[in-house]
Amino acid sequence: MDNFPGNLFVVAAPSGAGKSSLVKALMELDAKVRPSVSHTTRQPRGQEKHGREYFFVSLPEFDQMVESNAFLEWANVHGQRYGTSRKAIEDRIAQGADVILEIDFQGAIQVKKLFANAVLIFILPPSWEELKSRLHNRGEDAPDIIDLRLQNAADEMAQAKEFDYVIINELFETALFDLKAIVHAQRLKYLAQRRARADIFQALNIT
Ligand code: 5GP
Repeated sequence: MDNFPGNLFVVAAPSGAGKSSLVKALMELDAKVRPSVSHTTRQPRGQEKHGREYFFVSLPEFDQMVESNAFLEWANVHGQRYGTSRKAIEDRIAQGADVILEIDFQGAIQVKKLFANAVLIFILPPSWEELKSRLHNRGEDAPDIIDLRLQNAADEMAQAKEFDYVIINELFETALFDLKAIVHAQRLKYLAQRRARADIFQALNIT
């Protein structure tokens, strides 16, 4: 991780907390933050495209990737498998980007073990009622899937204590401001500045 040219951000949240919208808005404002496209065994939803939101693969294909150690982390989430391929991260690292992973809490904790400097951000909804109504209103999942996601949410939210930062997504604009603030503060850390502005440190003879 010391040689990692950019920063690694990991965002987790229960379904319906608004994680994807926040990450998407951040990336629209900040071209230096790039996503990593995960692999999943679940079916595409709505307008999702293979290679854009996810690489959609069969269970045998996924298991083959697990066997060949192709994943940095992977987990079972809501009855499907999801994994971050090493290649997805390495491609972004090679471009010197800040990488943002939108993964579940199990994956986030695995990533922190591998990259101690990864910044873990947990997004909470402001209430149960709001979480339920967001899941129903987005109209993407069948009622039984929504129920499963709500049942899992309590266990997921109990993991927020393992994270570095918590954002409460009550007002979208405020939550986006919070997310930008975390990204900005991370870039100003000593080691991050040293990596990003090595020329200045050298010119100032800071060893
Ligand atoms: P969805 O099916 O709604 O796209 O995602 C379900 C959950 O799986 C979300 O919490 C999402 O962040 C998580 N997820 C997506 N990709 C990955 C991944 O590569 N690894 C892990 N551990 N979780 C993921």
